[in-house]
Amino acid sequence: MTQERGSVELVNVTKRYGDVVAVDSINLSVQAGEFLSLLGPSGCGKTTTLRMLAGFEQPDGGFIKINGQEVQGVPPYKRDVNTVFQHYALFPHMTVAENVAYGLRQKGVAKDEIATRVMEALDMVQMSKLAERKPRQMSGGQQQRVAVARALVNRPSILLLDEPLGALDRKLREEMQIELKLLQSRLGITFIFVTHDQEEAMSMSDRIAIMLDGHIEQLADPETVYEHPKTAFVAGFVGRNNFWQGTATATGSQADDGTIFVATRPEENVPTGEPALSAVRPECINLSANRPEKPENAVEATVASVSHFGDVLQYVVRTAHRDLLVLVPRTNPARFAVDDRVWSSWSAEDVYLFSARQADVVMASPAHG
Ligand code: ADP
Ligand code: MG
Repeated sequence: MTQERGSVELVNVTKRYGDVVAVDSINLSVQAGEFLSLLGPSGCGKTTTLRMLAGFEQPDGGFIKINGQEVQGVPPYKRDVNTVFQHYALFPHMTVAENVAYGLRQKGVAKDEIATRVMEALDMVQMSKLAERKPRQMSGGQQQRVAVARALVNRPSILLLDEPLGALDRKLREEMQIELKLLQSRLGITFIFVTHDQEEAMSMSDRIAIMLDGHIEQLADPETVYEHPKTAFVAGFVGRNNFWQGTATATGSQADDGTIFVATRPEENVPTGEPALSAVRPECINLSANRPEKPENAVEATVASVSHFGDVLQYVVRTAHRDLLVLVPRTNPARFAVDDRVWSSWSAEDVYLFSARQADVVMASPAHG
């Protein structure tokens, strides 16, 4: 079967380094023209996955297809992929144009064709005006664009990007995110983009594969990942959550601190009596001076801190047992100060209920209030 240029398929792909299973039987299909992110904490196997796609590493099990063809044994330079690394080391003594031309020269491509393709690649990243500059005469963002041009000059149908914006400061990173996303939709090239930054993955991707310990926890579009996290790890890694450890009940769960949860949205089927993790997102908690008639879940607390973030106010409120993180839109008229007594409340449908399998991972994360 011939497949469209730009498609990628991983079937039961495994990679071991001694005792470490870096990638643990991953299955993943990427469509031509898709922007797919591999998102996960350090060490979860993102780079190893990319390196196998690029051909720098061979899988110990399973197989990879690029453009519908198995690529077992095909060397990197013969694959229809190019990689942009975080440390994009440009040659300092060469101009921008020479840096971009370098790979083509090594391959013995004719001079005229090199010139055409270099200008084409520099145009794509809006750098043709700076073609004669040296790397040290450019900002970090401009250097990163050259690194992208250096990969695009080979006209791959798939671009692999390994934390390409990790070295840039926040503002520049946000600008480059928009630029890369626009470039990708304009060129229609498949992007497989590695990041540990959930906001970056959320804002750029068509779909996100969230990885943990060498496997994929969930593969879905950003909205689904946020609204319907399949596991407690995903719920804590993408956006933030308040987690409670406890036991599943017929109507929800009972936390170890005595808090009773009424939940209508079990994301994993947790049998009654089994250890459970309940989670509520900070923006789903409401604060009020008096006990509300609704919703179902209400706990009295004291305001411990208030932080202003422009569009939202972030409260930390202290219940008898624990702190809760609460986010309230700036436009909400109710305001509270430190030491105010408040009721924190949330509805049953905003409670996620997970099996307690990942409690250790989740409770250790900074997202836990
Ligand atoms: P990520 O890119 O998600 O941070 P990596 O793919 O680099 O993760 O690494 C996954 C796991 O494999 C880690 O435990 C890492 O230490 C291990 N690993 C990666 N490369 C090697 C290597 N060349 N030799 C031994 N272990 C490695
Ligand atoms: Mg990595």
